[in-house]
Amino acid sequence: MATEVAVRDILNPADGEVLASVPDQGAADLERAVEAASAAFAEWGRTTPAERATALLAMADLLDEHTEELARIESRNVGKPIVAAREENPISSDNLRFFAGAARTLEGRAAGEYTRGYTSMVRREPLGVVGQIAPWNYPLQMGVWKIGPALAAGNTVVIKPSELTPLSMLRFAELIAERGILPAGVLNVLTGDGVLGEAIVRHPRIRMVSLTGDVGTGKAVARAAAETLKRVHLELGGKAPAVVLDDADLGAVAAGIRTAGFYNSGQDCTAASRVLVADSAHDDLVEALVSEIGAIEVGDPASGDSIEMGPVVSGRQQERVMSFLERAKAAGAGVVLGGGAPDGPGAFVEPTVVTEVAQDAEIVQREVFGPVVTVQRVASDADAIAKANDVPYGLAASVWTRDVGRAMAATRDLEFGTVWVNDHLPFMSEMPHGGIKESGYGKDMSIYSVEEYTTLKHVMVSLS
Ligand code: NAD
Repeated sequence: MATEVAVRDILNPADGEVLASVPDQGAADLERAVEAASAAFAEWGRTTPAERATALLAMADLLDEHTEELARIESRNVGKPIVAAREENPISSDNLRFFAGAARTLEGRAAGEYTRGYTSMVRREPLGVVGQIAPWNYPLQMGVWKIGPALAAGNTVVIKPSELTPLSMLRFAELIAERGILPAGVLNVLTGDGVLGEAIVRHPRIRMVSLTGDVGTGKAVARAAAETLKRVHLELGGKAPAVVLDDADLGAVAAGIRTAGFYNSGQDCTAASRVLVADSAHDDLVEALVSEIGAIEVGDPASGDSIEMGPVVSGRQQERVMSFLERAKAAGAGVVLGGGAPDGPGAFVEPTVVTEVAQDAEIVQREVFGPVVTVQRVASDADAIAKANDVPYGLAASVWTRDVGRAMAATRDLEFGTVWVNDHLPFMSEMPHGGIKESGYGKDMSIYSVEEYTTLKHVMVSLS
């Protein structure tokens, strides 16, 4: 008799339509995946950098070949505009090409005689099987940021996409398998929720776990990983300030916040969610923001390429965002734009600008992860920096000014993993992305992310 497999419906948040059903996998599936990844590591861990680079380049080409199909899957599963989903894929394939190159350029200290009579050298080695847990906001891109450096370094992978948005990663893995790019067992995708995630974290044969997700999840992962003392890489939430000094180009700021605050419905860990503006520029900037952000075309991504913002990812996320707004309003905040959730179908939230908020207000201190930006007045550059830093997060920030000296001082004083000057959001494969404080530790992209997936071994040879 066949055993019944539990399945989970995967929804389109723009209309509630069921897109697919995927298995809710458990301990037995995890065991099989770890077994396959362990067996594959024996060979994959000994491939040359050039061999791994060839595989990663083939994965990049494959992603490009199927870019429209993958963009459509992503758009329907996450509710993001098709134009945005199309833009993200070439970035992901560029990331893979960067990791292909990085596989061949890992560095360490020069071999030499650091003690008379001995030659010492370092070997930079893969860790083995790594477990990776991804969020729902950029499912394929976050997947690529995880599997790219792990595979480049010679590890094998067990990855779990978010239970809300597994479809693009599943399809990409299927395409990789069909094309025979990776040996069997090198890349394993499992579907399930946090229960499966926790099992990955606790598995004794998994050597490292990498999570992109919520701060609370990150803390749970760090606690569970302590049991086996496995290496942990955490890319968690953010509450990015945009610090607007009194000499800033306010038109550029407003246009920048339109993108950086509302791209992907504000569901971005680096979203510019807090504007801190010099008192003298406050009223003009609020006016410019209302005009820019009020022009965002919101709708079902399926209704046309002109849609700039779709729904949030789920009805639950919509309720969460609206409850933040209700509490902020009850505490005296002013809503100068948006603030509503149009009736369904679809988990939509209007692009929203909130003013008159105190530094210790919940909506300033906690990540809303929706299309909501707060605006606060500041008295000086020092006040702006102090307020920018006064949150538990430390992922990303921007400073807007025409004065290079004030900009440089701000980049020094802002306690965040990325600081932009006169822009907010762009990133590239060569530069690290990752936070400090409760935004986690470890880096995505760049050579530093590949190094995270390696360990150094000292080899010391007696010359006698
Ligand atoms: P989430 O923490 O709810 O879920 C993330 C993943 O963790 C999912 O795959 C989920 O199934 C899994 N998970 C849940 N509980 C777990 C547990 N106890 N043990 C192991 N795994 C568990 O986050 P989300 O809602 O999917 O994503 C949004 C969050 O991700 C936001 O806070 C956002 O800021 C953050 N994020 C951060 C970055 C970054 O680069 N720092 C990038 C994207 C998203």
